[in-house]
Amino acid sequence: MDKSIRKIVVVLIFIILLPALFFAVYEINSLSSNERIIERIYNNQVEAILYSVNQFSEDIISSWRSKIKTMRDNKKSNVMKDEIKKFLHQNTAVKFVFFGDSVGIKALIADEGTPNEIDNVLNHGFTTNTTKIERLYNYSREGYNKIEPIPINLKDRTLIISVIETTNGKEILGVGIDPLLFIKQILSPKIQSVGQNEFIISVFNKKNRENIYSTEGINVNNLQNEKDLWLLPEYSLGIVLKGGTIQSLVKDRAETNLILLLLLIIILFVGGWIVFRNIKKEIALAKIKSDFVSNVSHELRTPLALISMFAETLEMGRIRSEEKKNEYYTIISHETARLSRIVNRILNFSQMEAGKRKYNFANVQLNTIIEEVFNTYKFHLQNKGFKFTSLPDNNIPLIYADKEAVSEAIINIIDNAVKYSHDRKEVELSTGTMGELVYVKIKDHGIGISVQDQKKIFEKFFRVSSGYVHDTKGTGLGLSLVKHIMDAHKGEITLHSTPGSGSSFILKFKTSQ
Ligand code: ADP
Repeated sequence: MDKSIRKIVVVLIFIILLPALFFAVYEINSLSSNERIIERIYNNQVEAILYSVNQFSEDIISSWRSKIKTMRDNKKSNVMKDEIKKFLHQNTAVKFVFFGDSVGIKALIADEGTPNEIDNVLNHGFTTNTTKIERLYNYSREGYNKIEPIPINLKDRTLIISVIETTNGKEILGVGIDPLLFIKQILSPKIQSVGQNEFIISVFNKKNRENIYSTEGINVNNLQNEKDLWLLPEYSLGIVLKGGTIQSLVKDRAETNLILLLLLIIILFVGGWIVFRNIKKEIALAKIKSDFVSNVSHELRTPLALISMFAETLEMGRIRSEEKKNEYYTIISHETARLSRIVNRILNFSQMEAGKRKYNFANVQLNTIIEEVFNTYKFHLQNKGFKFTSLPDNNIPLIYADKEAVSEAIINIIDNAVKYSHDRKEVELSTGTMGELVYVKIKDHGIGISVQDQKKIFEKFFRVSSGYVHDTKGTGLGLSLVKHIMDAHKGEITLHSTPGSGSSFILKFKTSQ
């Protein structure tokens, strides 16, 4: 690889690709840690939501506790009972209220629908939960108003007890709750508000997983996180994110990020590659241009040197023989013609580059053009030891072309045939038809062109830089002019060439309209 190109590659790697790779690795790493953070935040939020529902239940029951306690304080028994009955009437989720001690129940106020066997059941509940009751007493002694559920064998009722301070000392206050009513009447608005349209929250029976209430229709088994309801031990709260699980959301997000990241890397690589290719092209062009300047100077210098040398010799009048003089004049005129051809070629090229070249299209006979070219170049080529033949096909139709430009293209190719043939000096011109097109073929038996160079020789300034060509003068403009002319004619150029055995350039033209 060229030294300057290697330098560019290193620079590109350092300024584009390495940072891009570092960035990608860093991003991929942080993606997974982001996922963990998101999941943690989500879990915390879910915890907070479930906690707030539990806390709300506790607040409600605590507020009932203090209301009932106030009714109990300093009231005659029948007034208190009336007030509590009123309370039960207002809060239908509460089915009965009682007061008692660690031994059993002292007073029970129940709504009308509550069965009479409550007494026995409650007493049984008391005796089987003595430790819990003892603990509540302890809490109360330390100043905490704790409330706690205790299991009782009373269908559809949950018993919640706490210890209250009365004028008669510490007493147990119990409320019997209808859990279904409690959930539907009291918890549901709270659950709805904490769900905030982002989550589906459900309260369900722990044993049979039957949905009791949910913010939206849901299969209980699809819930993501579950938590017991502290005060309704037979029921649980469950929650799930709307529109998919958090894992799937996080996964989707990570996937999109990863795809974007990959795209970014691909774009960076493609960008880097394009920059590299352009710079490489520019470097090659700069080299080609500097070669061009030296090639042109070289091409101009040789005929100039010959002209001045022979002109000076003639000027000095040393040449006596007319024959010799004529030979010198011919050389001078040949070299002048060569000079003007080179200059013309450069001028044509610059016109062509500027898009200013004008073509005069007309219906012309290709055979006429090659005949003129053949006659003009016959002697020149024969003098150089070439066998120059012309094989026109007399049946070809007229073509629509600029005569001058077509001869210029053919001459350029003949010029090359002469320049790049050294062992077998033969050039053959022929015409013919190929389908709809009319062609002229210029065939030589010269050094030929490698397949790899065949693609490049029509580019401006391009010259094969090795071997025989290296020592032959040229500007690298001839074939690019030919290509330009053929493009202007909407024609085609085909090249068949084998290194070592010669080349055939075929110019194909459209027939006249
Ligand atoms: P140049 O002034 O170098 O001849 P051209 O554009 O006419 O420029 O040709 C480009 C290159 O193509 C030449 O330098 C030569 O390497 C190669 N080339 C063109 N014609 C022939 C040919 N007939 N045989 C071998 N090589 C050729």
